[in-house]
Amino acid sequence: MTEHTFSIIKPDATRRNLTGKVNAVIEDAGLRIVAQRRIKMSRAQAEKFYEVHSERPFFGELVDFMTSAPVVVQVLEGDNAVARYREVMGATNPAQAADGTIRKLFAESVGENSVHGSDSLENAQLEIAQFFSADDIVG
Ligand code: ATP
Ligand code: MG
Repeated sequence: MTEHTFSIIKPDATRRNLTGKVNAVIEDAGLRIVAQRRIKMSRAQAEKFYEVHSERPFFGELVDFMTSAPVVVQVLEGDNAVARYREVMGATNPAQAADGTIRKLFAESVGENSVHGSDSLENAQLEIAQFFSADDIVG
C-alpha cells in the first residue's frame, strides 16, 4: 500500500553537509521525497515532537541537539513507506545498524544519529501534520 512517512535529517547531518547524500540513499531505496523544508526547530517544536520521551534521561540533551542547527523535514512516499524507511535508516544506535543503512553510513552516535523516521502510520500522520499542510505535499 502506498503510504506517507515523516523524516527529519538531523543537525549532525546538516552540519556536515550530508543532506544530498542522505537524500540519495532515500531515493535509491525507492522512496519519493514529496515535501521538504529546511528549518531551525524551536525548543517548543522539538519538545512537542519528542514528547513521548519527556521522562527519559536523555530528553534535555535530545532537545538541545535537535535545536542546535538546521534540520530538513520531509514527507516520503512509497509502498510500505513507514516500515521501508525504518529499514533504510537502520538501528537507532549506529553501532548496531546494518550495512548500507543511513545510520551505518553517516551517524555519529546513538544521540546524533542523522535521521528520524516515523514508527507507525498513525504517528506519521501526526508528525506530518506538525510540520506540513496538505498543500505542501506534491506527489
Ligand atoms: P527517531 O525517533 O529519532 O526516529 P528511533 O525511533 O530509532 O529514532 P527512539 O527510541 O524513538 O529511536 O529515540 C528517539 C531519539 O532519541 C533517537 O533517535 C536518538 O536521537 C535519541 N536517543 C535515543 N536513545 C538515546 C540514548 N540512550 N542516549 C541519547 N539519545 C538517545
Ligand atoms: Mg522514534
